[in-house]
Amino acid sequence: MKKPGFASAHAPGPRAFGAQAPGRASDGPVVVIGAGLGGLAAACTLSARGHDVVVCEANDWTGGKAAEWKDQGFRFDMGPTILTLPSVLRRIMNEAGHTLEDRLEMHRLDPQWRCFFDDGDRLDLLENIEAMARSLEDRHPGDGKGYRDLIAMSETLHDISRRFVFWKSVGGIGDTLDLGQSFRPEVMRDIAALRMHSTLGREIRKRIANPKAVQVFDHFTQYVGSNPLQAPAVLTGIAHMQVDEGIWYPVGGTRAVPQALREIAEEQGVTFRTDSRVVRILHDRRRVHGVVLENGETIGASAVVSNADSVRTMRELIDRDRAPAAWRQFRRQWKKREPACSGVVLYLGLNKAYDHLAHHNFVFSRDPEEEFEAIYREGRPAPDPTCYLAAPARTEPGVAPPGGEALYVLVHTPYLRPGQNWTEIFPGYRETILRKLERAGGMPDLRSRIQCEHHLTPMDIHRRYAPQAGAIYGLASHGRLDGGFKPANRSAGLGGLYFAGGSAHPGPGMPMALMSGWIAADCLDADVRGREPGLARAG
Ligand SMILES: Cc1cc2nc3c(=O)[nH]c(=O)nc-3n(C[C@H](O)[C@H](O)[C@H](O)COP(=O)(O)OP(=O)(O)OC[C@H]3O[C@@H](n4cnc5c(N)ncnc54)[C@H](O)[C@@H]3O)c2cc1C
Repeated sequence: MKKPGFASAHAPGPRAFGAQAPGRASDGPVVVIGAGLGGLAAACTLSARGHDVVVCEANDWTGGKAAEWKDQGFRFDMGPTILTLPSVLRRIMNEAGHTLEDRLEMHRLDPQWRCFFDDGDRLDLLENIEAMARSLEDRHPGDGKGYRDLIAMSETLHDISRRFVFWKSVGGIGDTLDLGQSFRPEVMRDIAALRMHSTLGREIRKRIANPKAVQVFDHFTQYVGSNPLQAPAVLTGIAHMQVDEGIWYPVGGTRAVPQALREIAEEQGVTFRTDSRVVRILHDRRRVHGVVLENGETIGASAVVSNADSVRTMRELIDRDRAPAAWRQFRRQWKKREPACSGVVLYLGLNKAYDHLAHHNFVFSRDPEEEFEAIYREGRPAPDPTCYLAAPARTEPGVAPPGGEALYVLVHTPYLRPGQNWTEIFPGYRETILRKLERAGGMPDLRSRIQCEHHLTPMDIHRRYAPQAGAIYGLASHGRLDGGFKPANRSAGLGGLYFAGGSAHPGPGMPMALMSGWIAADCLDADVRGREPGLARAG
């Protein structure tokens, strides 16, 4: 049932289909391509505002990468495990008339990460800034102050992101900062604070001396699958986002998030069609008007939100000859950007829970520079990788049989390169990972504890989720000036086409993919009603 109280999406306001949405819209529902977190957030927001929505999902499940695997009494989240910035999910649910707490039971986790080093040392990342500063100071005099400075700088960058980047469609700095006004003191202050000459890795190294602590903070780029030494300084804002709002675990795992969003969307009348891959978006020179499914069926659409990879949407679903300007414009802006990293994931059902593990853990490589060089510049798996581990049974014992653990192991690898055959590479790399965990992760008996096992390689990720080259996190956030930007949520060249998900603005990770879905929906709704995006429902 549709939520009452909003005007029909097909009853446009005075400036409907104006300059920002060229061409006249056809009748029909809004079609959302893909039911990942971005697609689900878009479907919830659009249906809450009274639009008819049909979601076409290629797979037989919804949630995209936020999938799950169950076997012999073990339950695993297959993709994301760390949930940050819950305020994003809260806002999307609130707009649909629900509270987050109505729909999900959330647990705050502290320590946020437990970090293990090759020499047997261990360091906890704590939520409390003063406690963390004291712990760093004990290890290396001066690092306590350095950490406070890092968090203060990070807070400024988080604030700039809130004001200029979040909750609106942005495809580059000119879309959000009025560079013509850059002589004004407040604009100059913001531009200087962005440190566009620097990288996240460099800002950390300026303030923190202990190499182990540097390795911990470098891994804030884990959320965007990028090299800290190539990622723009603005991403240092992630540190403050994490201490400010914390790290959360929803009971039922991160899988509970897409399940809750799908339920809300269905309550609001959204139709879900699984096993329905879209092979073409129908459009003329100016505007989209439908989609074609793999089985040949055509669905007329007043607008299309693509939660499929944004580059693949433009490359494979759009007819370039029919919309050459839109294609050229997109290609010009994004052709030089590489995909973010891919990964190998092991799901190990164990008959033992290791007490020394926290919920989230890193077992770090012995040489981070060798590791980043291999993954991001040479395009080969790191010889001694960092392994991220989730041990959720300590928060939700039901994920494993009594006394057991549903251990999740993620190792970042390069995005798929031509000729890389993971069927051949995987057995040897699994050995590398298990040896690392036995030795540096304090689990010498790990192999003998495995009751059931499953895995994903970059090739599996590519087949399951249809990203570019098996990339987990869309486009790499590399480049001091523009590395933080992703394709805008509203197509500049084709009316009625919007992008949602980790490969569109504001980028990858659970909260950002969710926010991108809201932004795409808000732009679409604004275009239909002839208003400025963001003004109707700023929260
Ligand atoms: C192993 C792994 C670990 C991760 N860990 C974390 C973490 O701890 N914390 C975090 O915040 N983030 C993490 N992420 C990233 C996070 O999962 C993603 O950024 C986010 O889930 C992406 O959502 P999305 O909206 O882009 O949709 P996706 O999950 O990419 O889903 C897109 C959907 O579109 C469908 N689709 C594609 N093409 C078509 C088509 N032509 N027709 C129909 N349907 C189509 C796909 O089948 C898919 O269901 C992780 C990801 C992975 C894979």
